[in-house]
Amino acid sequence: MSRRYELNDDSVVVVIGSGAGGGTVANELAQKGIDVVCLEAGKRLTLADIVNDPPTMDQRMGWHDERIGLPVWLCKTVGGTTMRWSAVAPRFQEHELAALSTYGELDDTTTIDWPVPYAELEHYYDKADDKMGVSGTHDTPPSAENNNYKLLKAGARRVGYEEITSSRIAINSVPRKGRPSCRQIGFCNSGCAIGAKWSTMYTEIPDAEQTGHFELRPEAMAVRISHDDKGHVSGVVYADASGGLHEQKARAVCVAGNVVETTRILLNSESAMFPHGLANSNEQVGRNYMRHMFGFALGIMPKPVNYHRGARQSGIIFDEQYHKPERGFAGGYLIETLSLDPLNVAAFVGGWGPDNTQFNEHYTHLAGIFLTGEDPPQSSNRIYLHAEKKDQHGLPLPVIEYQGHPNTIAMRDHGLQRSRDIYESLGASQVWAAEGPPVGAHNMGAARMSTNPEDGVTNAWGQAHDIDNLFVSDGSVIPTSAAGNPTLTIVALAIRQADYIAEQMTRKVI
Ligand SMILES: Cc1cc2nc3c(=O)[nH]c(=O)nc-3n(C[C@H](O)[C@H](O)[C@H](O)COP(=O)(O)OP(=O)(O)OC[C@H]3O[C@@H](n4cnc5c(N)ncnc54)[C@H](O)[C@@H]3O)c2cc1C
Ligand code: SF4
Repeated sequence: MSRRYELNDDSVVVVIGSGAGGGTVANELAQKGIDVVCLEAGKRLTLADIVNDPPTMDQRMGWHDERIGLPVWLCKTVGGTTMRWSAVAPRFQEHELAALSTYGELDDTTTIDWPVPYAELEHYYDKADDKMGVSGTHDTPPSAENNNYKLLKAGARRVGYEEITSSRIAINSVPRKGRPSCRQIGFCNSGCAIGAKWSTMYTEIPDAEQTGHFELRPEAMAVRISHDDKGHVSGVVYADASGGLHEQKARAVCVAGNVVETTRILLNSESAMFPHGLANSNEQVGRNYMRHMFGFALGIMPKPVNYHRGARQSGIIFDEQYHKPERGFAGGYLIETLSLDPLNVAAFVGGWGPDNTQFNEHYTHLAGIFLTGEDPPQSSNRIYLHAEKKDQHGLPLPVIEYQGHPNTIAMRDHGLQRSRDIYESLGASQVWAAEGPPVGAHNMGAARMSTNPEDGVTNAWGQAHDIDNLFVSDGSVIPTSAAGNPTLTIVALAIRQADYIAEQMTRKVI
C-alpha cells in the first residue's frame, strides 16, 4: 500500500538512499507511523531482474557515475549495496568503541572514543540480527559449511586458531520471514535471485510500503538539501530520470547515500548561511574516511574445492580480532572465506601473465581468504568536491583521497602471513597473498559521531551538531572502523536513530 506525498508536504521525513542505512531508518520510521519519502538515485529491480551473470548485474545495479581517486564500489539501485554485499555480519567489540582509551594516541591519526555506550549498541545489535536473519542467532542454525569454509576451518585448526564459525552471516540458513534459505548458488555479489540474502530491496522497502506511511521514489537523485532562514533543513532538491529538478519539502532529512555520496550532498548544499556546506561549520565533513585493512589470499589445493559452489563468504575466524600490541600493531582483524570468479582472479593476481594462468588453470582447486581489519581514522584521508569537473546532474565530482596508515600496513602483512600459513598447512602447491586492487567497499567515517562537536559532524544519534533536523544514517557516522564488516553496525545504528527521531518528533524538538 504505497503512499504518494505532495512535493509541498513538509510533514514528511525525507530519506536519501534506500540501502542498508537509508532502507532501515525509513522502514523503522514508517513502522512507527511517521510519514517518509525515500529518494533513491537508482532504479527499482525485482527478483526476476537478477540473473547469475556478474557483468550484466553490474550494468543493472552498479554505480558508474564518474569519480576521481580511490575507486569506491557501491550500487545505484533500490536496495543500494545490500544488493551486492556478501552478508558477513559480525558485531564490533566493546574495546573497539573505546579505541582512543584502548590503543592510546596513534601517530597521525584522529582516533576517538565513540559517544555510544556498548551496552546500548548491543541492544540494537540484537534487533539487527533478528531483522537481517543473521545465522546462528535468534534460534537459526549456522550457515551451511561449503568446501571453502571446511578448508579454512581445517587449516585454521592446524595453525592453532579456535574461534572459527559459519555463523554470523545475514543469509537465511532456514526459511524465515517469508524468504527461502540459501541454495548455495554462489552469485551473492550479483544480487541473490531467490532473496535468501538480506537486502533492503525485498525486506525493509516492501515492509515500509505495507505501513501506508511510506513512498519510495526511485530514479530520484538528490542534488542538494535546502534550509530555511532559521538554519533548519526544509527540503531536498532532486533530479528525476529525465533530469528535471523538483523539491520535496521535509520536516527532517536523513542522508544515507553511502559515504562518498553523503559527503557530496552535504558539501554541495552550501549557502550564504552555511558557506562550507551543511553540518560543516568545523570543516569535518569528508574527513576521517576509513575503508578497513583489506587483504586477499588464494591457495591452489591438492584436491578439488570448487569454491564457487556456495555462498561467496561463508565463515569467519575471530582469533586475530583482539588488541594484542605484541603483534606490532593496534587493533585486530578477521579472516573470512572468499571466492573470486575467474575474471576477478585475473584482476587480483595481476592481470595477463603467469600467475593468472596458474591460478585460473587450477580454478577448481582454489580456496580463498578475505581479511578485514581496523583502519585508524586520518584527517588527510578525505572526500571533497572537485573545483571544476561536474557530472551529468551538474554536481561537482567527488575526489577520494586515501593512504593506508603504517598500522594498517603492518596488520595486513601479519594477516597475509597467517593466510599463507593456513593454506600451506594443508599442502597448497602455491599461495598468492596480497592487498589486491585498492578499493573502498567498507566505507566509513567522513561525517562521524563525536562527543565533542569539534571532533566530528554528528552527535551520538547521527544528528548533525549544527542542525537539529538533519541526520546522517549510513556508515559515515562510524567514528573508528573496528575490525569487522560494518553493515550490521550501520543497521543497528539506523534502528537506534529511528527511535531517537521518533522521540524528538513526539517532543516537538524537531
Ligand atoms: C562487493 C561487496 C561486498 C560487501 N560485503 C559485505 C559484507 O559481507 N559485510 C558487510 O558488513 N558489508 C559488506 N559490504 C559493504 C556494504 O555493502 C555496505 O557497508 C552497506 O551497503 C552500506 O550501506 P549504506 O546505506 O551506507 O549504503 P548503500 O547500501 O550503498 O546505499 C546507498 C544508496 O544511496 C543511493 N544514493 C546515493 N546517492 C544518492 C543521491 N544523491 N540521491 C539518491 N540516492 C542516492 C544509492 O543509489 C544507494 O542505493 C560489501 C560491499 C561490497 C561492494
Ligand atoms: S549462495 Fe545463497 S545467498 Fe548467495 S546468491 Fe546463492 S542463494 Fe543467494
